[in-house]
Amino acid sequence: MTDPRALAAEYLKQQRLLGGNSVILSDSRTVGLSDDNDEATPVAPVLAPTTPSDRQTVRPSDALPPPGVSFDPPSADLFSTDPIQRAASLTDVAQLIAECRKCGLCEGRTRTVPGEGSATARLVVVGEGPGRTEDETGRPFVGRAGELLTKILAAIDLPRAQVFICNIVKCRPPENRQPQFDEIAACLPYLYRQIELVKPKVILAMGSTAAQSLLDTKQSLGALRNHLHRFRGVPLIVTYHPAYLLRNLPDKAKAWADLVFARKTIAGL
Ligand code: URA
Ligand code: SF4
Repeated sequence: MTDPRALAAEYLKQQRLLGGNSVILSDSRTVGLSDDNDEATPVAPVLAPTTPSDRQTVRPSDALPPPGVSFDPPSADLFSTDPIQRAASLTDVAQLIAECRKCGLCEGRTRTVPGEGSATARLVVVGEGPGRTEDETGRPFVGRAGELLTKILAAIDLPRAQVFICNIVKCRPPENRQPQFDEIAACLPYLYRQIELVKPKVILAMGSTAAQSLLDTKQSLGALRNHLHRFRGVPLIVTYHPAYLLRNLPDKAKAWADLVFARKTIAGL
């Protein structure tokens, strides 16, 4: 089969049978499925108005939402037996983390750092991973970067106690190195469940590890800033990590703009 339209049609049919996501097409007639029976009807309705030239091509982008990255990891299944999915409160999640040995970071930790703050927070703040002070105390963002974060949050009228603060990985990486891909993958389900339980209005991803992990992308922090992303439908804003700001003071103004953006987004919801 070499006709691109026939290939596209076959691909869409397979995707539908596999339970894949809907693909929005500008004109269903172009994919060559409409002559088939009902079962073979394309997965999405005709949306965009078409011009004669449009009809020759499948142009998913025409009908898609505006630019921005959206990532929808599978959410809990009602009958799951996974203890993380069954955790009914943030305390339950923290208890599972305290016992967790799913990745190598458990070897070097003093304490786990599950996160802390309001269980009904409008804002969830996500960093990278615990540093030395966090590892010693079991609390997130209490070292120098944490002091800066606390001041930033107070400045946008969201005192620390009113938000939920946590990290991508819950155990300290040795020498504060970046967490590795497998460590992040092992730990993310805890964060997903925490976000699911808190149901924030906005997520603030600080630094590239948080932003890239939550949005499942390799795009740079610079490319990800200044956009309203979504994580499972929750608006997500990307900004610099406070530890970076301590070393790069001139970028504080840009971080401030991100925080004002986050504040406005919360207020507007
Ligand atoms: N840096 C982080 O990413 N998280 C903390 O909790 C502290 C410093
Ligand atoms: Fe478990 Fe996360 Fe700690 Fe790894 S970093 S041991 S996955 S809690």
